[in-house]
Amino acid sequence: MTVTLPTVYFDHNATTPVRPEVLSGMLPYLKRYFGNPNSAYRLGQETRRAVEKARAQVSSLIGAQYPDEIVFTSCGSESDAFAIQGAAVKKHLITSRIEHDAVLESFKLLEARGFEVDYVGVDRYGRVDPEEIRRFLRPDTCLVSIMFANNEVGTLQPIHEIDRICREKGVLFHTDAVQAVGKIPISVRELGADLLSLSGHKLNAPKGIGALYIRRGVRLSPLVTGHQEKERRGGTENVAGIVALGTACALAQNEMQKHSVEFLRLRKHLEVGILKLPGVRLNGHPDLRLPNTAHFSFEGVDGHALVVGLDLEGICVSSGPACSTGSVDPSHVLRAMGIAPALAKGSLRFSVGWGNSMEEVERFLEVFPKILEKQRRVLSPRS
Ligand code: PLP
Repeated sequence: MTVTLPTVYFDHNATTPVRPEVLSGMLPYLKRYFGNPNSAYRLGQETRRAVEKARAQVSSLIGAQYPDEIVFTSCGSESDAFAIQGAAVKKHLITSRIEHDAVLESFKLLEARGFEVDYVGVDRYGRVDPEEIRRFLRPDTCLVSIMFANNEVGTLQPIHEIDRICREKGVLFHTDAVQAVGKIPISVRELGADLLSLSGHKLNAPKGIGALYIRRGVRLSPLVTGHQEKERRGGTENVAGIVALGTACALAQNEMQKHSVEFLRLRKHLEVGILKLPGVRLNGHPDLRLPNTAHFSFEGVDGHALVVGLDLEGICVSSGPACSTGSVDPSHVLRAMGIAPALAKGSLRFSVGWGNSMEEVERFLEVFPKILEKQRRVLSPRS
């Protein structure tokens, strides 16, 4: 099948294009510098140096105190699983209803193994109340895991307050920051959090590389046993992926300020245009939200049909998280926010990112009203 490549890509929360600087930086580690970083000779030591440089770049982006607080993994999902399953040493854990499946699946697994999990709810904007977490805490709670920013609606969580509560009670705090890292400033030193997950392909590095920040002194049982990564994650390091992640983190750190202003400008223009249409609501927090993400529900229409209609125009957006495309159930995030299932089904997420322009937003605003109207007529022919 020949696929016509999209001209407008507004789905950066699903994945991002690899930036040319990232690609050119990683290629030598797939060609000339192919050595195993654990080998003693110079070919190995060259790649070891590259891995350690990348570790410092990742650690600097999230404001970690020491580079060795970063452990490389294969993806955000593995980082989440490592943090959650690795910290499950006492009977009780706490998370929220709006976490990504990468987190929820680990909790399901722990429940099946006899652990007890409490799930905090969210308000209509998708925010967790830290006091609810406090109420759930028990003497046998070993971990609280709350995402930094939601992947669907973009709402930011009160991470600092949650961290304070966990610290008071001596409970470990993990945050899935896969959608936040590279988009907004993060400092684990200032903010707290003992464990933080991130993923390369959400910040213009390739798929298949992630990292987990583990605060010094925190002990986790490894998910993959072995001697690499100081016994914390077995497996020969994905050197090219690690170099790519390091470069992407360095670029994000240098350009974050400029990019977040630009992404916010695009997002706001998009929001103003869409909110002029009839029967639409903006989901997620009005202000405490990722600068690149806007999520809407449209009355009387199916989100998937809108995605298909836009795709025919060469525009990529999503109607739900990429990993659950094809699911007929409305998103668990929207359900937790109290959005009626019929409305939730008519939802679209726009996530802008590197490479997007105002012209693209304009093009979207030109074609979208016609697609929306057409799809509404399909579902309700007589209106
Ligand atoms: N956590 C969040 C919030 C995500 O959005 C995603 C991916 O969409 C993940 C975890 C999983 O990351 P990965 O695709 O690298 O496994």
